[in-house]
Amino acid sequence: MTNLNQALFDRASLTSPGGVNSPVRAFRSVGGTPRFIKRAQGAYMWDENDTRYIDYVGSWGPAIVGHAHPEVVSAVQEAATQGLGFGAPTRAEVEMAELLCTMLPSMAQVRLVSSGTEATMSAIRLARGFTGRDLLIKFEGCYHGHSDSLLVKAGSGLLTLGNPSSKGVPVGVSNNTLVLPYNDVPALKTLFAEKGDQIAAVILEPIAGNMNFVRASFEFMNALRDLCTEHGVVLIIDEVMTGFRVGLQCAQGLYGIQADITTLGKVIGGGMPVAAFGGRADIMAHMAPLGGVYQAGTLSGNPVAVAAGYTTMKLIQAPGFYENLRAKGAALLDGLTHAAHAAGVPLSTELEGGMFGIFFSEQVPKSFADVMASRVDLFPAFFHGMLDEGVYLAPSAFEAGFISAAHTDDDVAQTIDCAKRAFARIAN
Ligand code: PLP
Repeated sequence: MTNLNQALFDRASLTSPGGVNSPVRAFRSVGGTPRFIKRAQGAYMWDENDTRYIDYVGSWGPAIVGHAHPEVVSAVQEAATQGLGFGAPTRAEVEMAELLCTMLPSMAQVRLVSSGTEATMSAIRLARGFTGRDLLIKFEGCYHGHSDSLLVKAGSGLLTLGNPSSKGVPVGVSNNTLVLPYNDVPALKTLFAEKGDQIAAVILEPIAGNMNFVRASFEFMNALRDLCTEHGVVLIIDEVMTGFRVGLQCAQGLYGIQADITTLGKVIGGGMPVAAFGGRADIMAHMAPLGGVYQAGTLSGNPVAVAAGYTTMKLIQAPGFYENLRAKGAALLDGLTHAAHAAGVPLSTELEGGMFGIFFSEQVPKSFADVMASRVDLFPAFFHGMLDEGVYLAPSAFEAGFISAAHTDDDVAQTIDCAKRAFARIAN
């Protein structure tokens, strides 16, 4: 039988670099043929060969209520009949902004954009405009989208492809980005002592999901909050991945810390291009048209996209929504751990809300160095073992996994069963 995934990949490779529109999709670090997806429903995706997969990528995070949820689809259909976009303000944007500001206590005002990259890029420009300073601190292994200042020692696709810093970023730009090890309080204190009055902003993933899953320690988050306040530095908590994925109060709620600016994406768009940045009123007042920091977008706040996001944001507020996600996630990780250990494969796991990490290591990593020290070499064979069994994981050892409200106990049990055979394959 013709492999329709391969046929499409061959065709795509003629007209698109690497055959894809985002690098990790090309399967370079795991090898083999990317699956070209025809449709998705609930917890499942079907490829061009009509093979079904239990999906733990969830469109890289957005699909928290499951793919093509009927209420989300009908909201999108309804919005589309009214027009696809106007380039003028709409009621839906007002309602979305009100919802976000109500749900996130640190967000007095918010601006909607179309991607996480735009959100972080704009947040940094705003922090620089607000403080009149240039320096930016980020942490090794954290990914914040692909704007120039942030492609320095980054995670996600850069790490997957083994080039944590991108070519094409001017030295003048990367010189303004200082990179520190994640969870390293002494390094943070030293840098603030030396350069605190030149730093515009610190940006971090509170749970780093782009080097698999590494939590910030409470000590690290508290030190960060205190140092930023003391030195007038804007603390940008990048919740593009964790926002409404780890819980209704986002990661900030878990740590009991308020960002000066928060960036959001993924879940708040429900699978459509919606992202946002927002925070303290005195900072947001520097945005055009009120202030001198410019940012704009033809598609910002697009009504069809906002309809998907807003409906998703309503669905996640159902009582018990996150308890259900957590229970399924815990059952999955418990089963995987038992299966791995029974096969003699080292495995440790992490879970928060609907986001999880699995590591081929005895201990859960606490830093980028720990992640790199785990047996990432085992991942490609495990990945393909699972894919062959009908389980779709992210094609990279450096990405978090996502479970949705649509995953059933039976999906979880099937996944564990598949993993038993996949672990046996890599143990040999
Ligand atoms: N920030 C974080 C934490 C992310 O995980 C991502 C994407 O994975 C981004 C920013 C960039 O978002 P986008 O891919 O929508 O540009």
